Amino acid sequence: MNQISASAPQAENTTLERWLTGPRYEGLPPRSAQMAVPALSFEFFPPKTDALEAQLWNCIRKLEPLAPRFVSVTYGAGGSTQARTHATVARIVRETSLVPAAHLTCVGANRGEVDDVAREYWDAGVRHIVALRGDAPAGEDYQPHPQGYAYAEDLVAGLKRIADFEISVAAYPETHPNAVSADHDVDNLKRKLDAGATRAITQYFFDGTIFLRFIDRALAAGITAPIVPGIMPVSNYAQAAKFSAMCGTSVPEWMGTLFEDTGEDPELRRMIAAIVAAEQVRLLQANGVDEFHFYTLNRADLSFAIAHLLGVRKQVQAGAATPA
Ligand SMILES: Cc1cc2nc3c(=O)[nH]c(=O)nc-3n(C[C@H](O)[C@H](O)[C@H](O)COP(=O)(O)OP(=O)(O)OC[C@H]3O[C@@H](n4cnc5c(N)ncnc54)[C@H](O)[C@@H]3O)c2cc1C
Repeated sequence: MNQISASAPQAENTTLERWLTGPRYEGLPPRSAQMAVPALSFEFFPPKTDALEAQLWNCIRKLEPLAPRFVSVTYGAGGSTQARTHATVARIVRETSLVPAAHLTCVGANRGEVDDVAREYWDAGVRHIVALRGDAPAGEDYQPHPQGYAYAEDLVAGLKRIADFEISVAAYPETHPNAVSADHDVDNLKRKLDAGATRAITQYFFDGTIFLRFIDRALAAGITAPIVPGIMPVSNYAQAAKFSAMCGTSVPEWMGTLFEDTGEDPELRRMIAAIVAAEQVRLLQANGVDEFHFYTLNRADLSFAIAHLLGVRKQVQAGAATPA
């Protein structure tokens, strides 16, 4: 007969051992019926080719029934996508029930040129602008155009002089890379809101507590406007890590570990992306956040699934027949 050594039960019962001796965690609370269904917005970029145009429109059609508060279309560096941004926004106005917001930047244009773009949007029925400074071409430092709007704050004030646009601006939970300090950056956000913006949308982040601490700092600075977290579901880790380094978003080590050995399996990467983003938004929702902005990258599936987890369901479209 084998003797049972004193250490054997421990080796076989590591879960029980850990339960008795290790830290204990409880899960996030489930979404309760009392929680408001969150308000969503979705961001798209203007497509360059017919194939990408078709992909964008599949994405728009899939997300439209979720009745987002608005959908926004980005503007390329130095106005490089001006015509495509305008065409995409105009088609959204013409062919959907969605409320569009056009992104507009200060880079590479004088005030008159930027004002003309804004007036064209107003004339096309666009009432919401996401007002941004924009970036210099890669490798160059940002220099304001000599006759241009220097910073987003100036652009917000200029837009308000043109028409009564609804204006959203950018916010940086991890501080904008060009900012003199984190406090200066929060003050800059406050100035943009004081100039007439009514909402901030954040740069994407991966650690939810970074957003929650940022809300604390914004409140301490006297900001009362909504600060909407920008959510980017990441399925291409290598690309996201490279882009994040440029825009000042930190990538937690655990994320790299999660995406190890997934290079040949895009389906697995998308499942991981959904789970990471789901955990992130559930933490925010449990802490009272009820507005989310999704960087869709013109693909609907991840944003749609995460919206579903947040409690958002398809809504009957205006004008659609109601069941008898
Ligand atoms: C939600 C969102 C959407 C975006 N969409 C686009 C897009 O469509 N197209 C695009 O090209 N880019 C886009 N960007 C990127 C954005 O253009 C860059 O992050 C840009 O570097 C800063 O833009 P901003 O509007 O935040 O700038 P600002 O608010 O003007 O701030 C830029 C920097 O300047 C500092 N600053 C502000 N005022 C002064 C001053 N008077 N003196 C000195 N420093 C000052 C700020 O602290 C900050 O560091 C987006 C970013 C976000 C978060």
